[in-house]
Amino acid sequence: MHSRIKLLFHPLVALAGLTCLNGSAQMSQPVLGEDATKISDHVWALMGFPNVGIVVGQRATLVVDTGLGPRNGATAARAAAKLSGNQKLFLTTTHFHPEHAAGEGGFPPHTILIRDAAQQQEIERHGAEMIALFSSRSAQNKELLANAKLRSPDIVFDTEATIDLGGVTVQLLWFGGAHTKGDELILVDPDETLISGDVVQNQVVPNIAGDGGTPASWLGVLDKISALHVLHVLPDHSAPGDGTLVSKERAFIDDLRTRALALKRQGVPADDAGKQLGAEFKAKYSAWPNMNVAGFVRSIYAE
Ligand SMILES: [Zn+2]
Ligand SMILES: [Zn+2]
Repeated sequence: MHSRIKLLFHPLVALAGLTCLNGSAQMSQPVLGEDATKISDHVWALMGFPNVGIVVGQRATLVVDTGLGPRNGATAARAAAKLSGNQKLFLTTTHFHPEHAAGEGGFPPHTILIRDAAQQQEIERHGAEMIALFSSRSAQNKELLANAKLRSPDIVFDTEATIDLGGVTVQLLWFGGAHTKGDELILVDPDETLISGDVVQNQVVPNIAGDGGTPASWLGVLDKISALHVLHVLPDHSAPGDGTLVSKERAFIDDLRTRALALKRQGVPADDAGKQLGAEFKAKYSAWPNMNVAGFVRSIYAE
């Protein structure tokens, strides 16, 4: 646990190609409902944009991700209160994008906000800029983000923090950059459930936002996750699944990276490779709802 980082702003940094793609209609719904879906013994989720995780212990509750703006944050806090009588409430965020982090103002004032240092640095550098970008995308986003504030966390950790919620323990983990630099993973025991953010998804093409991680660092993060041997995975923009989602994510990235690097060696331009591999992978991974690999192929070329 180290102390807070000084506020830094780099408003001119361009964040190209930033998206949080999602499969079903519910998962693109930015106004969350209070009805929770049970994932494992102690883990619940509000399914939407994004899926918000709620881990309920005997003494305290942890909410993972805020929803887009304070109204959604308040919904998540109410849902958490309905699931438990706990007064003690922790909040953490999987990464700094607004639908994950910009609803913090809707939580009660006593909420203990905790996140990893790499993510906090991204919030300080790009958080306000991201809120402005998301606000510009639709009138609904603009309204939801109107009073979004990003306060300093109560606890910042470097690579790992453990919270005992009473009968259930959460490990908050930073394994390196993937979708963003600061991706946080939440391991819940004894459930053996992983709340995986964008790092492990269910049939969603991976995407590296702005100056996030690299395809190689993403694979490195997945190797560390594999060693956790989880039984359940709750991703942020796709359906929950079992532990095989981890090896499937790794296999997809490895497959795409191998093919893209082969085309790069043949001198095929990145954009052409993106189109070619989009068609190739659409046939190969036919169950996936979208196969726009152009952005990730560019990330592979840039490595
Ligand atoms: Zn997202
Ligand atoms: Zn994101």
